[in-house]
Amino acid sequence: MENYKHILLAVDFYEQDAVVANRARDLAEKFQAKLSMVHVVDSIPITDAGYGADIPFDLDLTAELMAAAKKRFAVLAEQLNIPEECLWLEIGSPKQEIIRIAKENAVDLIVIGSHGRHGWALLLGSTANGVLHHATCDVLAVRLQND
Ligand code: AMP
Repeated sequence: MENYKHILLAVDFYEQDAVVANRARDLAEKFQAKLSMVHVVDSIPITDAGYGADIPFDLDLTAELMAAAKKRFAVLAEQLNIPEECLWLEIGSPKQEIIRIAKENAVDLIVIGSHGRHGWALLLGSTANGVLHHATCDVLAVRLQND
């Protein structure tokens, strides 16, 4: 088997992120691969359909989410010793952005967690599922507890 050269770790800041992050770091060490990390702030607006189409009730939390994400991302990057140029903090659809970053940066392995999210995210289909089906490189879904 050929060594992986560029591994992309996708983090969502849920409680089991450390398990996924440690696996990605261990693999990067084993393969002497470059390790990059991505987090995507979901851009889907919160809309109350009850007010009807004419009166949009969009609560744009993106800037605040971005600021909070930046802090957590920086802490994790330091723990994993990932340099600035290997960090991707994006806004958009997590699935699409993870796949795009992987494609544009010659990533040959994406490491994600396997667990499903609750609420509306579940209705749209999980990020893990989308990345597994649409990525053009290998994907490792790290099995998390409560699957
Ligand atoms: P999910 O399928 O949404 O339950 O998430 C499974 C895995 O996909 C997580 O453990 C992360 O590795 C990755 N992931 C989910 N959401 C995001 C996000 N917003 N940004 C980056 N990675 C994510």
